[in-house]
Amino acid sequence: MEEAGSLTAAIIVAGGIGARARQADMTDLPKQYQMLAGQPVIAHTLQAFLASPDIDIAQPVIAAGAEEIYQQAVAGLENEKLLPPVTGGATRQQSVRHGLEALHGRGVSRVLVHDAARPFVTNQITGNVIRALTEHKAVIAAVPVTSTLKKVSHGTGIITDTVDRDSVWQAQTPQGFDYEELRHLHGKYHDLELTDDAALFEHDGQSVAICQGDARNIKITLPEDFDLAESFMRMTQTYEFRTGQGFDVHRFETGDGVTLCGITIPHDRKLKGHSDADVAMHALTDAILGAIGEGDIGFHFPPSDPQWRGASSKVFLEKACDLVRARRGQLTHCDLTIICEQPKVNPHRDEMRATLAEIMNCDLDRISVKATTTEKLGFTGREEGISALATATVKLPEGAQA
Ligand code: MG
Repeated sequence: MEEAGSLTAAIIVAGGIGARARQADMTDLPKQYQMLAGQPVIAHTLQAFLASPDIDIAQPVIAAGAEEIYQQAVAGLENEKLLPPVTGGATRQQSVRHGLEALHGRGVSRVLVHDAARPFVTNQITGNVIRALTEHKAVIAAVPVTSTLKKVSHGTGIITDTVDRDSVWQAQTPQGFDYEELRHLHGKYHDLELTDDAALFEHDGQSVAICQGDARNIKITLPEDFDLAESFMRMTQTYEFRTGQGFDVHRFETGDGVTLCGITIPHDRKLKGHSDADVAMHALTDAILGAIGEGDIGFHFPPSDPQWRGASSKVFLEKACDLVRARRGQLTHCDLTIICEQPKVNPHRDEMRATLAEIMNCDLDRISVKATTTEKLGFTGREEGISALATATVKLPEGAQA
């Protein structure tokens, strides 16, 4: 690392409460470790800094006891910019100080301090802070206040004044600083408890500039903030579409009916198979598993396992749909073709679609069921068995981990 220092670092403060972080109950986790659009909040935040061309290294600061939950949250984010986490202190101020000390000797000239619970930080905001740092030693992202603000007297609940809105800004993070100066002030005022890092400069009589933040750069503080965050995520999240295919064949044997798409159709034979031999549902399940690269039915439900003997194929399809949901994906469309001479499928198509829609928990118009014959040719033509073909398209959030 350079001696003089030319790097820009980001300290991501994820202090939280370590004791609570150790509990298994997700609802008790600090906000930065809770899930947002399929990923922990802190993973979104770190990704934003790791993807920023203006940031050279990122230093997370976590609570004592939160090591394990942190490692789970950032699995897959390994990157040469991302330093191992350091343990914070009893207050936010102490935590930032630990982060600053950890960066000492790494050639850092500028440092941005950011809340882990602000996942909507953008390259634009980070860039605004860093550009302003060429002229100022301390800069914070902020947004103008749009609401009318009233001063209210304590106790009486009576308005004493209307605040001039033009002079009031709402502070956000990142807050950017000259690294050595911030480190110096943290040492100098370590016995004072101040709201944020900008307050150290203010307390020292130094000027702090503001630059344009973003109204969407919210800090997730209350449970209800997740609703707003999810809707922001929907606006900013990009998706990719993947298509999978499935194919299956089952032969006829002595019996009195076949199961296709969960519907039992009376017939003079039945399909042979380990489960209920629902050839159509098997093809569809494989198509969905194929779209998300999750192997095939045989991988998840080995035929050698006696527990699947005579099982309803509904279990397989539900599993495939659960795997899509686990990746915050959505089944966009599936198309199924059943190939046989007998029994006639068309009279049952609507019931088949409705049954699949219910099992898959999706809209009817996302499911297509078709039937065809092979003009008496081949094994289906000779009525030795039934085959089925399927495609499935799923929409997956880009950047989400499997
Ligand atoms: Mg099969």
